[in-house]
Amino acid sequence: MNTERQGIGMTSARTRERLVQRLIEQGIRDPRVLDRIRNVPRHLFVDEALASRAYEDTALPIGHGQTISQPYVVARMTEALIIGGTPDKVLEIGMGCGYQTAVLSPLAGRIYSIERIEPLLERARERLRELGIRNVRFKHGDGYEGWSSQAPFDAILMAAAPTALPQVLLDQLAEGGRLVAPVGPEGRQELLRFTRHKDQFHRERLGFVSFVPLLGGVT
Ligand code: SAH
Repeated sequence: MNTERQGIGMTSARTRERLVQRLIEQGIRDPRVLDRIRNVPRHLFVDEALASRAYEDTALPIGHGQTISQPYVVARMTEALIIGGTPDKVLEIGMGCGYQTAVLSPLAGRIYSIERIEPLLERARERLRELGIRNVRFKHGDGYEGWSSQAPFDAILMAAAPTALPQVLLDQLAEGGRLVAPVGPEGRQELLRFTRHKDQFHRERLGFVSFVPLLGGVT
């Protein structure tokens, strides 16, 4: 019997809906974001052995000492980035398995995504292609430097935490653009949003979070 089709499988519509309800209870409001959480097949972004846990609201290992971000955090960051309109050009730092990229893809014009671990980048590239996601450009590189040839960006999203925000990334924001990033040492990171007004950056605090650190160099 096909449990998937009956809607009682570990990756079924019902399982996903439970996750969506949980995020609503935790304060996620934007229907565009909730729809993406409902529709992006998170189980395809983790190892088959972990697929049954893919719709729990938790980070899971993706190899190379990295994790797929927790759905709540992905939803919160996406919401913080797209409030007030769809950004045309987005820079993503720390692509990992590509889940955050997939959630964001129809809510942005074009996404420029950087990952420092090449095998993760290549697998993410493959997955997104299989899912028919085409508005993403990939770069194997060090996100500390941003992507100057494509700047300025309407939005920048960081999936790994620097201890202090590199000025070079703020400089790659367009006028009115937003940067959302976890900032701080491991165990004491805060999610921050910076909005650019000319050469001023308005800073908002969005709550405490736990991310892997932003590391220098590539592997
Ligand atoms: N949102 C991603 C999160 C992956 S974890 C997902 O859901 O899969 C954060 C990622 O940031 C890791 O893959 C790590 O390799 C990457 N990373 C860390 N420092 C980086 C840097 N300086 N440049 C680019 N990527 C970096």
